[in-house]
Amino acid sequence: MNIYEFLKKQKHVLIIVIGFFVIFEAVIFFTIEYKEKEDKKTFLEFKSKELDTQIKMGEHYLNLIAKVLYDNVIDSDVTSDIMYKATQTNDPKKLAALREELYTKYEKDYEYMKKLGVRQFHFHLPGVKSFLRFHRPEKFGDSLVDVRESIVYVNRYKRPIECFEEGRIFNGFRHVYPIFKDKKFVGTVEISYSFKAFLEHVLEVNTQTSYLFLVNNDVIKEKVFQDEKINYMRSAFGHYSIDKKTLNNSMGISLNDIFSINKSIANEVAQKIEAQDNFTIVTHIGNVENQSVVVSFIAVRNFDKKKVAYIVGYNYSITMDIVKKRSSQVMVLLSIVNTIMAFLIFTLLKREKRKTELASKEAIHDPLTGILNRRGFDKILGHKVSVSRRYTSDLSIIFFDIDHFKNINDAYGHDVGDVALKELTTIIKKQIRESDIFARWGGEEFAILLPMSSLSDALLLTEKLQKKIENTHFSVVDHLTCSFGVTQLKQNDQVETFLKRVDEFLYLAKTTGRNKIVADGFRA
Ligand code: GH3
Ligand code: MG
Ligand code: MG
Repeated sequence: MNIYEFLKKQKHVLIIVIGFFVIFEAVIFFTIEYKEKEDKKTFLEFKSKELDTQIKMGEHYLNLIAKVLYDNVIDSDVTSDIMYKATQTNDPKKLAALREELYTKYEKDYEYMKKLGVRQFHFHLPGVKSFLRFHRPEKFGDSLVDVRESIVYVNRYKRPIECFEEGRIFNGFRHVYPIFKDKKFVGTVEISYSFKAFLEHVLEVNTQTSYLFLVNNDVIKEKVFQDEKINYMRSAFGHYSIDKKTLNNSMGISLNDIFSINKSIANEVAQKIEAQDNFTIVTHIGNVENQSVVVSFIAVRNFDKKKVAYIVGYNYSITMDIVKKRSSQVMVLLSIVNTIMAFLIFTLLKREKRKTELASKEAIHDPLTGILNRRGFDKILGHKVSVSRRYTSDLSIIFFDIDHFKNINDAYGHDVGDVALKELTTIIKKQIRESDIFARWGGEEFAILLPMSSLSDALLLTEKLQKKIENTHFSVVDHLTCSFGVTQLKQNDQVETFLKRVDEFLYLAKTTGRNKIVADGFRA
């Protein structure tokens, strides 16, 4: 039994094989999907950490600059003296002179500090009172108690502090140092960087990334001066607004793209921004699926450890594209393997089917003449006999055998005998109808079954055949004759009795002279 026959009989085996195949594919498919998700998650976590580290490094760098400035430039006897003197008088003129002195002393240094990114250089008297703003010297004397917790802290604890703090005008990374004169606390000084400066000096090291600075709306509402609120614009992210001064830091991705990205990720961000500090989202620009952009959100906490702002970094991600591409490549590969497998199975089954068909055809045909053999004839005979009985239609049969064929073989050889057999077959085929069943019964003996034919129809045909054979010039052997037995199916006939009778008639034809026809009640 070949595969085809086996599968035809054992259909459930085929179903199991296909089922296994499908499950196997599904497992591969879902594994790839799962792996892609895992890779994506790891990658996004890494991206958040990367930007977070970058920002921490930036802060560290700013802290260092501030400290160097304080230690080497500001922390001097001159500063201490001026501040001390300022604490000792309420006379505006004297205070103005001291302010002038302080300004002159650090005017040049302030220019230099600005180049380093310092935005605010601000001296305060004890009690958190503004003494000298280098960026706005004409404004002084105001209390900062309500707006600068960092300065309040340094006043109270007399030690320096570094932190991010919102402001009425600027948000910044602030450094506040206490100033002493002979261990007596005489005021504070602030060196701070605006977020814009922070971006320009620190983050631009990574030119591939664009940044936005988001500030919590509550902070803006509470802290920012009314006329400074125009510095902020609504973002796509509910509670946060964009610090407009940070808008032009787009080095990698255009502002327009950033705005459309923000819109597209707004929902995802809304879910995460309240619950998480740092997170990264992957998206793409417009409809360009293979141009992935990762957007990292890094929370900025203030002096009170309250989350007041977000630094958002946008950058193109080749890695994400590769991850995506890799899994789609595997999918394509998988489909190719599938197609090949299906094709192979299909071809194999088709070949097996053809083989089976050929084998069954060979089993019922005679290889020499191509007509049915005895087995093929037998298969049809039974069926035709029962049809004839059922519909009381006529059915006749002719048996015929070549006369003295042995002599032909002996005289010309077996091959010539074979040719004669083939030629005879061709002649007979031409004389009979398509519905007649012609077979080689064995050796040089043939049978013709004639459905819907009475004995007289059969006899007419037999006589025609006898004459045709007699008058044919065969190659080499030239001349042949045959003896015939003919009979019609009778009411009580079984297949065996039907065959036996026609065989007897053929025998009779042979024994009574050959080249003749013997039939029911008829001897030619
Ligand atoms: P009869 O008139 O009594 O039928 O004489 P016959 O010689 O035809 O009959 P017999 O049964 O004595 O011999 C039949 C011969 O047919 C013997 C056998 O070698 C030959 N024969 C049978 N099959 C084939 C065949 O496929 N090819 C050839 N060449 N000869 C065959
Ligand atoms: Mg013979
Ligand atoms: Mg014979």
